[in-house]
Amino acid sequence: MAEAASYDVVIIGGGPGGYNAAIRAGQLGLKVACVEMRDTLGGTCLNVGCMPSKALLHASELFEVATKEFPKLGITVGTPKVDLSQMMAQKAESVTGLTKGIEFLFKKNKADWIKGKGKITGQTPEGLGQVEVTAADGTVTQLTAKDIVIATGSEPTPLPGVDFVEGKVIDSTGALSLPSVPKKLIVIGAGVIGLELGSVWRRLGAEVTVVEFLDKVGAGMDAEVATAFQRGLTKQGMTFKMGTKVTSAKVAKDGVVLTLEPAAGGATETLTGDVVLVAIGRRPYTAGLGLESVGIETDKRGFLANDHLKSGKDGIWVIGDVTHGPMLAHKAEEEAVAVIEYIAGKAGHVDYDLVPSVIYTGPEVAWVGKTEEQLKAAGVDFKKGKFPFTANSRAKINHETEGFVKVLADSKTDKVLGVHIYGPQAGELIGEACIAMAFGAAAEDIARTCHAHPTRSEAVKQAAMGIDNWTMQA
Ligand code: FAD
Ligand code: NAD
Repeated sequence: MAEAASYDVVIIGGGPGGYNAAIRAGQLGLKVACVEMRDTLGGTCLNVGCMPSKALLHASELFEVATKEFPKLGITVGTPKVDLSQMMAQKAESVTGLTKGIEFLFKKNKADWIKGKGKITGQTPEGLGQVEVTAADGTVTQLTAKDIVIATGSEPTPLPGVDFVEGKVIDSTGALSLPSVPKKLIVIGAGVIGLELGSVWRRLGAEVTVVEFLDKVGAGMDAEVATAFQRGLTKQGMTFKMGTKVTSAKVAKDGVVLTLEPAAGGATETLTGDVVLVAIGRRPYTAGLGLESVGIETDKRGFLANDHLKSGKDGIWVIGDVTHGPMLAHKAEEEAVAVIEYIAGKAGHVDYDLVPSVIYTGPEVAWVGKTEEQLKAAGVDFKKGKFPFTANSRAKINHETEGFVKVLADSKTDKVLGVHIYGPQAGELIGEACIAMAFGAAAEDIARTCHAHPTRSEAVKQAAMGIDNWTMQA
């Protein structure tokens, strides 16, 4: 058998967690390999997640703007039409550009990509971690490492009673490459994926019904924002069946027939669609990883626990979707940098209280910090400043007045505890709230910071001014 290639760090998984860790390790002069079994680097996010979904959100939004807004703005372009194969082709091209970009960054930072499925096989007598990589053609490569980082990510959670059937009952990956616009799309789960991809297909012409178990959309967002958000999506033509569970799905000749039941139990009904998207969450992926060889166990929900990213076994670390915390690319990236800095003896740092969330619908929803409900539950005495986009001059001029900014601050100290935005470019605006909160800002700090006029960001300043009731434009 060929001698094992030895590394300082071997990372298993080439998604935002794994590839950022590999690049950071290269930057810090560590000898690093990243094991990835897909044909391309970038993981879920670049291949079948963040990036292709944003490509379709962007294209479908422009289609809707061209159809509905252009005439109002005095622009005549004839009747816009969707060329779905071109829309998919530009998405694929962007994704390829991004995944190739990661390959380039690997080369630049001297990180090796070992193609194949990685399995931890134990420890050498000297205490080095062992990883066996099996390539698609069956070739096996042995690696050893002082440190192993598990960054194997997640996969869609299946719904019992609702089996996936290609093109009919699909997960998010299927919904990113439908060959035609379905007449009726049913989405199970009013979370991030359901509302983003539901928006894509509604804009392109599908009748979209969203079935949600809870009474609130948006998986964990502030309740006042969730109510406004659901109202906005309903106005756009999305139909919601809230407080409802799906108990079975049957593929019939004329579509997929779902059986629904109130979440609390009760009379059943059926709902038929051409395509059903199951988007009820994602679960950690550790299949075939060889955890048993080093005595690491998953918790009841399949996650790997961590303490400052340590797995509990010397020299084995865990980051990204496979471990606890929000399943977000930027959370995985923060952990990637921190884990390599810990390994290199530096002071890594992740502030889990300041991981922003963004839903890239039209308009967007974004938030960071605590919701009103969380503050109330924790008994925190807080003040609230709120500013509507109807009173923001840039939003008005652009005819984008849906939504508001809400700032929550400690009543005594004025420290900003949460910022919630439902409105145009919320995902970009939340960046200033993240920076302010990272520096421990008071609401007055934001309120007294000069913001350019006319910009949507003035709505953030005005909401902060609202904490002490000196909002000027509303
Ligand atoms: P992953 O990206 O899942 O990468 C893990 C990689 O490990 C995979 O490529 C897998 O092939 C590989 N792997 C697993 N096991 C092995 C093994 N044994 N050997 C070799 N390779 C292995 N997040 C956001 O922040 N913003 C968004 O806009 C956003 N949009 C999304 C849209 C969709 C449709 C989906 C599904 C997800 C979205 N996410 C978004 C979530 C985001 O994709 C994940 O949080 C992120 O990819 C997690 O990164 P990761 O590195 O932990 O795991
Ligand atoms: P999610 O957790 O965001 O939402 C799942 C929704 O399904 C919840 O509202 C939940 O109540 C509902 N649900 C659960 N079981 C149900 C059932 N049996 N019947 C009906 N409804 C049910 O999960 P998701 O939308 O699948 O997304 C998965 C992950 O991917 C999330 O953690 C998210 O962070 C990440 N993601 C992020 C982005 C982004 O940052 N913009 C985009 C897409 C995905």
